[in-house]
Amino acid sequence: MGKALIVVDLQNDFCPGGALGVAGGDEIIPVINRLVNSFDTVVYTRDWHPANHVSFAENPQFIDKSWPAHCVAGTPGAEFHPDLLVRPDGIIVDKGTDPAVEAYSGFQGTGLAEKLRERQVDTVYITGLATDYCVKATALDALKAGFRAFVVVNASRGVDNPPGTVEDALNELRAAGVGIITDAEIGSSGE
Ligand SMILES: [Zn+2]
Repeated sequence: MGKALIVVDLQNDFCPGGALGVAGGDEIIPVINRLVNSFDTVVYTRDWHPANHVSFAENPQFIDKSWPAHCVAGTPGAEFHPDLLVRPDGIIVDKGTDPAVEAYSGFQGTGLAEKLRERQVDTVYITGLATDYCVKATALDALKAGFRAFVVVNASRGVDNPPGTVEDALNELRAAGVGIITDAEIGSSGE
């Protein structure tokens, strides 16, 4: 069975200078670009919201999961970061496209599990933004859908507000059965 790399939401709005920039979000791109060519299957998720999406708030509180407007479909903020290597044969999945429904997971409402099974994938390696939101939700849903799941910690960055949120997320993932590894451990016997 095969392995897939999942690159979560590496979009301009989630990188420094974007509407909802994650500190250091662009620093993981070189690590991800090295991985992109070592997998048969690469998935890129996008937050792809309508302008009236339910998560958008005029006075966003962040910690209550209300956010400033971000990743509005078709805008520059929703585009992949220009440095990200996007393979022509990559699978692009858009999430959060329903105005009334928040979607942190790349598996939510996207048909991703079926697309991966069609390609004989049984194990996924998850990278991208943000560790404590969409990466976490994608990893947990991958497990629920029956895949082995790993989060590549040095290829992911979190919002970490309040501080400690990322560590809590990693502990929750470990407890659920998600492997937490670095890129150097991919393919090693210990994974
Ligand atoms: Zn969003």
